[in-house]
Order: sequence, then C-alpha cells, then structure tokens
Amino acid sequence: MRCPEAGKPVIKFNHCQKFIYSFSVPERCPLCRQEVGSRKLEEAPISISNPFTNGHQEKYSFLLRPTQGTFLREYDGRSDLHVGITNTNGVVYNYNIQGVHRDEAGWEQSISIPLLQPNMYGLMDQWDKYLEEFSNSGAWLPHRYEEDHHNCYNYTLTFINCILSTEGRERLDKNNFTEKYVLPRTKKASKYITLYRAIEEHGFYMTDQPQQEASPP
Ligand SMILES: [Zn+2]
Repeated sequence: MRCPEAGKPVIKFNHCQKFIYSFSVPERCPLCRQEVGSRKLEEAPISISNPFTNGHQEKYSFLLRPTQGTFLREYDGRSDLHVGITNTNGVVYNYNIQGVHRDEAGWEQSISIPLLQPNMYGLMDQWDKYLEEFSNSGAWLPHRYEEDHHNCYNYTLTFINCILSTEGRERLDKNNFTEKYVLPRTKKASKYITLYRAIEEHGFYMTDQPQQEASPP
C-alpha cells in the first residue's frame, strides 16, 4: 500500500519537444492541446523516482526530515532539518532538547541513507542492542543538549562512528558525511520538490529536452 505521506507519484512524458511532468498522463498535451497518444515508444510515460521514503519501513538507516512539517509541503531549502537512525523494526531513534526519542510515527516522508551493506550480518544482529545501549548513555540526557554542538546530528554521527570503529573503519566527520551522503540526496530532493509543487499549482511542469544524442541501433 502506498503511504499518502510520500506524495502522489509523478510521471514524465515527451511532447512538443519538451519533457512534461504530471501526476497522470493527460488526454491532451497542455502545450499544443493535441491528444497524447503513446503510439511512439519514446513518447510513453515513465515514472519519476520519488526521493522520499517511509522511514518506518527502513532498517539500519540514517533519516533526514524537516524539523517542522514535511519536505513536500513546508520545506523551503533553509528549514531546519532533523535526523535520526532506524532500528530493525522501523523505530526512529533521534535526539533533541528533550533527550532521546524512539518514534514509531512521524518519519513517513524522509530522505533515507542505508548504513549497512547487505552482507554485514554480524552488525545486523547486534544493531538494535547497540542502538539502545548507545542511546541510554549519559551523553544523550536532555540537559546535555546544545543546539550547535551536541544535537541530533552529533547523536547520529557519533553512533555511526561507533559502528565504523567496530568494523575497523575510518571515522567520518560531519563535513565529509554531509558532502558524501547528505548533499547529493538533498539536491535531488529539492529538484523534486520544485517539480512537485509546480504540478500541484499548474497541473504540469516542463523542461527542455537535452540535445538528442545518437542512440544506439
Ligand atoms: Zn504537445
């Protein structure tokens, strides 16, 4: 079942030498008013992958969402973001001024970054135990919270680094974690949000098609 929080699916088709995006294929092209047929294979609509996932269905993952509201409705590119980590049952562990929370709802529209490779069985077995023990440590008591230096990000990254060191791998600092994993996904999400809101407002969104490259026979 699709989660309504994840938003409506978006499709893309070609017409009038443009890429046209909408929630469903219209009977007529919004630009030339001609019927949209899919007689030609290259005109057949394709679905656009949604950068958001229901975080409660992700295991061993780092999640990102706006502190207030959702990406598709409220996010403006500068909104505060909140981050957390899922256990194997989709419970999202996260830290704020009230301490550690174990959320079973509220992360239905998140950007998700998997933290384990499919062959890391040992860590998978211990994950919930590690996450729970880590979260119970005095470091994450409410009074230790500091908005800039001891926040949700420090909580998740410290946990990730504990895991990495168990594996004998190098630690990540906040900048390289952000650059390597977070920014590529938030950029993609921002594009999708622009497209999605334009479709909501105007019924469609269009872009120029890139110059056609010679396609293989
Ligand atoms: Zn057209």
